[in-house]
Amino acid sequence: MLERRKVQIREQGVDLDYTGTQVNYYFVCKRKLWLYSHGLEEEAESDIVHLGKLLHEHSYQRELKEIQVVRIKIDFIEGRGEIHEIKRSRKIENAHIYQLLYYLYYLKNYAGLEAKGVINYPLLRKKYDVNLDKDKEEELRKILDSIDEIIHQQKPPEAVWISYCKTCAYRGLCWG
Ligand code: SF4
Repeated sequence: MLERRKVQIREQGVDLDYTGTQVNYYFVCKRKLWLYSHGLEEEAESDIVHLGKLLHEHSYQRELKEIQVVRIKIDFIEGRGEIHEIKRSRKIENAHIYQLLYYLYYLKNYAGLEAKGVINYPLLRKKYDVNLDKDKEEELRKILDSIDEIIHQQKPPEAVWISYCKTCAYRGLCWG
């Protein structure tokens, strides 16, 4: 059973106990979220993740300066309060958008900082703006509650085949 660590900061009911990766996996696959949250960090060995890191480093060598703020890791910051995330995907996905929304939510509630978000897609040669508003904050609170429920289940959710499984680091564990 995972230890419940709650970081209640500034506003009552604001839970900042998760990483951006967990918010991302919530959208990708609930089973992946559970496995990752229980310490099965196979991502480090995945070729696809390695490729993503190489792309990440080569595309943004000049600007790149990862910044860790307690539980979140921001790829780089530009100008006045513009936080950037780099994704190697060939399509814009909710997992990316909500991960960055969570960073904005985190900075606002942890440090009182109102930032803007930009997702950079080097393979698409596109940028995607992300902004946190009241509706998104409310939605994020519900998502975080749901993440909390999933990762505290005794067992991982059943595996359900999705196209993402083809490149998932947990493929062997789920479909071995
Ligand atoms: S292999 Fe598929 S079902 Fe298993 S964790 Fe990855 S995405 Fe989820």
